[in-house]
Amino acid sequence: MRDIGHFIGGKAVKGTSGRSSDVFNPNTGEVQAKVALASVAEVEQAVANAEEAQRVWAAVNPQRRARVMFKFLELVQKEYDDLARLLSSEHGKTFADAKGDIQRGLEVVEFACGIPHLMKGEHSDSAGTGTDLYSLRQPLGVVAGITPFNFPAMIPLWKCAPAIACGNSFILKPSERDPGVPMRIAELFLEAGLPPGVLNVVNGDKVAVDALLDDRRVKAIGFVGSSDIAEYIYAKGCANGKRVQCFGGAKNHMVIMPDADMDQAVDALIGAGYGSAGERCMAISVAVPVGEKTADLLVKKLIPRVESLKVGPSNDPQADYGPMVTKALLNKVKSYVDAGVKEGAKLLVDGRNFKLQGYENGNFIGGCLFDHVTPDMTIYKEEIFGPVLSVVRAKDYEEALRLPSDHEYGNGVSIFTRDGDTARDFSNRVNVGMVGVNFAIPVPLAYHTFGGWKRSGYGDLNQHGPDSIRFYTKTKTITQRWPSGTKEGAEFVIPTMA
Ligand code: NAD
Repeated sequence: MRDIGHFIGGKAVKGTSGRSSDVFNPNTGEVQAKVALASVAEVEQAVANAEEAQRVWAAVNPQRRARVMFKFLELVQKEYDDLARLLSSEHGKTFADAKGDIQRGLEVVEFACGIPHLMKGEHSDSAGTGTDLYSLRQPLGVVAGITPFNFPAMIPLWKCAPAIACGNSFILKPSERDPGVPMRIAELFLEAGLPPGVLNVVNGDKVAVDALLDDRRVKAIGFVGSSDIAEYIYAKGCANGKRVQCFGGAKNHMVIMPDADMDQAVDALIGAGYGSAGERCMAISVAVPVGEKTADLLVKKLIPRVESLKVGPSNDPQADYGPMVTKALLNKVKSYVDAGVKEGAKLLVDGRNFKLQGYENGNFIGGCLFDHVTPDMTIYKEEIFGPVLSVVRAKDYEEALRLPSDHEYGNGVSIFTRDGDTARDFSNRVNVGMVGVNFAIPVPLAYHTFGGWKRSGYGDLNQHGPDSIRFYTKTKTITQRWPSGTKEGAEFVIPTMA
């Protein structure tokens, strides 16, 4: 059995707290590794290493820092398949989907390769007599990222690549459920030329997170995970004077207008609702057909598609999706389906009793489809995070627009229509952070920013894209006058350039 410790000061180290957590094989339910849970002292050790390394790293010029990013990309390419296999074996997503997880992370590393350009400040020549005004972007120091289980490559890379490229050192606290890939990422960065201590991985739970929140040397924290924890980290981090951004849960709607290409909409719903067993923060979990005719047609087409979803072990290339990450999440998803039935929603496809021959102890669940879900039901209000799609019938466009706008989450939303006016109106008015038009999972590419609204996102700046550079740097503005020898005597009024 593998023992996973931490990665501190450029090397893998064993945990010393005496506490650990099981890492399961979601296909079989067996424990495949033990991951150490850090103590406060271990976190403090990592922060001390990071602080020392950062002073040197910040002085490395941005072009050289970019070269480390380029080299890292090259190294990952060489072991892409091995990384994807490791990821899928701990998470349960299919091999093809695991490769996508890595790919979306690498795109942010590619973005970070442009750091010499991205960190350029602004310059105003001759703002006054002999006076120039300019600004610099400088790193914050030691920063930390706390990441969820569902994208164990992508989200750690979204966090650490821009932070490191900006000249910070980074402490990653990945999910204790699938820590294998984050550990390998740290080793590969070291191999790519990153000085020891610039990227550290501290495995752990609330103890490690609280230690990071309480440590005055940690200047910024980026979190991705469920909303209750996001709120807690945001409040505590801000109270402790840190820069904080927290991204939380989601309930993403897809509106299907009567004029939509129905086959295209059904394809999109099947992929976005059930891919990765619904364990995506941008998964579509609510379909909102507009008008009874649209709803009847949508449901008629969805039923056979959900019934014929191929659920298989994560290494089956034919599988549409694999097992849930843990038995605990599987049971939680099933209890949501029970609640939906109890509250009166119509369960059209019931995947609760799905069993996979040869994998009876795996965390598998078949696709579930509800119709006649209403906004007062638990399955509508709360995030399920499983392969469960709820159809909420809207009588007209305005009602369909109100549903995602009024929901407490506001991560992603999408509309399927052939009408440009409707799509434009929807995009402008909907109260949600990321919008897709005839596009089910509108995760922006690396050079734009990613972030939800309401309970899906806390903080002023989004992830990746230009916002990530703003988040991981502070601006210094310099007013300089040359020649300095102008003799005007003491000035007692506020200097103006007038
Ligand atoms: P989670 O909130 O359980 O865990 C996220 C991180 O917080 C982990 O590193 C975990 O160890 C840590 N953590 C857990 N409990 C803690 C506590 N009490 N105090 C301090 N830290 C704690 O989330 P998860 O189950 O790993 O991931 C799924 C959730 O993440 C879903 O809600 C999903 O929507 C959300 N998510 C959001 C985005 C986004 O960008 N908005 C992206 C991916 C996932």
